[in-house]
Order: sequence, then structure tokens, then C-alpha cells
Amino acid sequence: MSPRSDDIRRYLRQNQELFGDELFLDIKSLNVLAEENDNEDLSSFEEEICECQKCSLGSTRSKFVFGVGDPDASLLLVGEAPGAEEDKKGEPFVGRAGKLLDKILAAIDRSREKDVYICNVLKCRPPNNRDPLRSEVEQCEPYLLHQIRLINPTLIVALGRVAGQTLLNVDKSLKSLRNTFHDYNGTPLMVTYHPAALLRNQDLKRPAWEDFKVIKEFLEKKN
Ligand code: SF4
Repeated sequence: MSPRSDDIRRYLRQNQELFGDELFLDIKSLNVLAEENDNEDLSSFEEEICECQKCSLGSTRSKFVFGVGDPDASLLLVGEAPGAEEDKKGEPFVGRAGKLLDKILAAIDRSREKDVYICNVLKCRPPNNRDPLRSEVEQCEPYLLHQIRLINPTLIVALGRVAGQTLLNVDKSLKSLRNTFHDYNGTPLMVTYHPAALLRNQDLKRPAWEDFKVIKEFLEKKN
């Protein structure tokens, strides 16, 4: 995002030097700037925002956790925020929950490198793994929206109640959010269990597997 702002600022400064304070819009130049922005990819976007200090989590994080996976993935998995292990490694969904997620993905013939992208709503860890604050989400969610624009997934899956509630901005139970295709800024969104919840409660594995079967079928139909 910042190169675009820098380019636009540069363009406006040049305009001001040439024509004073009156603004003459050159649509061709603006289109060139827009095309340059279209060429932005996930890694350059990560470079732009990895030093972010927009909210207080910037000063308490160990590592910024942008996301991992296939930049052209049809399936985008979104958790709420990095936990302690993610904060240490700078990668989302690591540790036992991450391993379980990898197994689930393998069962639907996908992996972190194969047609899946994984990230969180917040890019920095909230202290003591508390739930994200609304103010933090407001600061950080534009980054997720831009990631989604760059990836252009067919389906977003929110992992866990907090991710589902945060993305949909509702205060509903996970049970009531499951089994429905919601809309997230024009992209279908499903909510299912967080892999950590499956580790805590084995009984949730079956319904979670039912969700992933629906996810697989949905993506197969769309491809
Ligand atoms: S949580 Fe998001 S908004 Fe807050 S500092 Fe980290 S990247 Fe920036």
C-alpha cells in the first residue's frame, strides 16, 4: 500500500510544481499507477507492513506473522491471531494444532504449499493469548482485506469462534455460525473449529471433518 501512496504523493507533488495548487488530473498517469499497484505481490506487501506499529501489539510481539502458503490459493484459512509458538517462529498454525491442521489438509488433498493460504486476522500476538480487541481488529483488518484481494480465494474458512465472530462482526456461538456460507466482502466464508479445539475435545473431530468434506466439495464444484 505504501508504494501506491508514495507514487500518488510524488505525482501530486510534480503536478503542484508544474501547475501550482490547482489540480489537473491526468487519467493516463493515474491508470499507470493503478496498473503498477496491480503488480504488487504478497511478499512485497509483507515487506511493506512487517514493521507495523499501528496498534500496541506491535511493541509486544516477537515476530510479525504475515501468513504462509500458495499465493494463488483457492482456499484461505484464517485464524484469530498468532499464539506463543507462532510469535516465536513468525509462522501461523505451528505446534500441535498446526500439525493437526496439516493432516486435515492432506485428507482433502491439499497442503500449505498446495492451493491453501493460511493467515490470521491479527498479524501480532495479543499478550497471554487473549482475544483480539475490536480496536486491534479495526487497525489490522485492512491488511487481511488486502491479502484477500491479492490472493483472490474461492472460499475463506474462519478457524474457530473468535475468528468467525471477528470476521463477520457478530456475537454468535460457533454452533450457530457453522453449516452456513456467509459473505465476507464478496467472498464466501465458512466457519469451523480451530484445530486446537479438536486437540482439547476429540468429539469435535467428526463434525470438523464433516465441515472439511463440505469445503472440499464446494471447491471441487467451483474449479
Ligand atoms: S496487530 Fe496488526 S495493526 Fe497491530 S501492530 Fe500488528 S500488524 Fe500492526
